Amino acid sequence: MNKRKFLKNTVIATTGMTVAPSVLLSSCKTDTKKEETTETAAVAATSFTLPEIHYGYNAFPDTIDAMTMEIHHSKHHQGYTNKLNAALKEANISGKTIEEILTMDNLPTAIRNNGGGFYNHTLYWDILTPGSEGMSESLKSHIIKDFGSEEAFKNQLAEAGAKRFGSGWAWVCQDNDKKLHICSTPNQDNPLMQVAERMGTPILGIDVWEHAYYLKYQNKRGDYLQNIIKIINWDKVASRMS
Ligand code: MN
Repeated sequence: MNKRKFLKNTVIATTGMTVAPSVLLSSCKTDTKKEETTETAAVAATSFTLPEIHYGYNAFPDTIDAMTMEIHHSKHHQGYTNKLNAALKEANISGKTIEEILTMDNLPTAIRNNGGGFYNHTLYWDILTPGSEGMSESLKSHIIKDFGSEEAFKNQLAEAGAKRFGSGWAWVCQDNDKKLHICSTPNQDNPLMQVAERMGTPILGIDVWEHAYYLKYQNKRGDYLQNIIKIINWDKVASRMS
């Protein structure tokens, strides 16, 4: 993909998101002064706050244990958030959305790692649900068009997570031409970043760092991947598509 073109479109997409606020966007609000509208908060963001998990830490007893959920959110995600804010202050960056920050050229390492960590986990919590109801017919037909079948799509997603060496993420992204693709990034990188092998707009992200599954699954990352795909909020995923 032409990176310059993608960047332009991403910024436009970000503006679009202010019309339809999501958990992701609400997490981007500044904790200073005025927050009358989500739009103001998104544009004026200088400091990011940890988003709440509305379904709680005990939502997925068969899939992700409560202790993993709590540590992951209150320690790891909080840590990325705090370090991102410190790094932004250090770099004197303000007034940008998290998407605008992550698509910048030559991101300082601390912002790349912690900004990625902040954004990636916000997306992760947002697209999980204890009451997963399967895909709408419209999403299913889009997925069948791009991947052949729902099963092939889920297999490819699980494989992307399983094959990631070390720590990282498996993603479903949308291209500028609206086509969906699956990819993976190392560490806390994501497909918004210029360093990504393949850029795109993330609509679903699965954390495959050991901290996401090790207490319950130990070395069995494949089992975690099979199970987590069963608790995806497909309507939320679809709502992130343009
Ligand atoms: Mn994580």
